Amino acid sequence: MGNDIEKLKIDKKPTVFVAEMEKPSWDVFFMGLAYYYCTRSPDQQTKAGCMIVDWDTKIPIGTGYNGHPRGMHGLPTMREGSVLDESVHIPGDEKFGLGRLFYKGEVVPKELRSQVPLDSIQGPEDKYSVMVHADLNAIVNCIQPSANAVGYLPFEPCENCLLAWLSKVSPKVEFRRIVILTSRPFPNFKRLIDKRRDIEIEIMVDTIHKNRELGIATPANDPALALFQASQYCNLMIEQSLELSKDSAKTYGRSH
Ligand SMILES: [Zn+2]
Repeated sequence: MGNDIEKLKIDKKPTVFVAEMEKPSWDVFFMGLAYYYCTRSPDQQTKAGCMIVDWDTKIPIGTGYNGHPRGMHGLPTMREGSVLDESVHIPGDEKFGLGRLFYKGEVVPKELRSQVPLDSIQGPEDKYSVMVHADLNAIVNCIQPSANAVGYLPFEPCENCLLAWLSKVSPKVEFRRIVILTSRPFPNFKRLIDKRRDIEIEIMVDTIHKNRELGIATPANDPALALFQASQYCNLMIEQSLELSKDSAKTYGRSH
């Protein structure tokens, strides 16, 4: 961790860094937030985040990440084959990752793990049956209506979540635009969205690719750079606060 923080150190005076910060476009800003939401996901293989924004006010009205239903604990966080229990952490087990390995419902002792063939492992539960998608969580979580909503998704939505987005009635959320960072072939998505010509679909990855090729990618137009800039700023301010707290400890004779 120490080394990671070293990488974030900025070789500039704080005032210079702040003056050079670039304001991200709204699309870049909200897509960046959708990615930041990913980090809260308990899923150990796929992390998705989502933002739903009222475009008239630019206020987020719904947010989500993929995870277990509210209030349910101890559910699997990986796909069948290596079922893990988040409460147990076994570092250094590269074959199966972190956590407990079950074989036919029994916990496999650590020393026997290497003898278990990967394709024969039976998990008591599969994560897919107990994981709620980020975009479904975001629409369920919407706290106020919007007649002009924009959705931000790092991934193309599955048809079930898209149907939920189009059906949301309480509070009523009407989508005018859906911004997706990446695009994978998904015939049902296209078939469904073609029935709603009033919803604009935007694929962000093409613009990002073009900007990077032209050498004009900046925190204003690239969510990765916007997030990096934000993390640098966050680190700068924390460093400053740590310095200040040392000074105040001297002034008031307190120790933290
Ligand atoms: Zn989905």
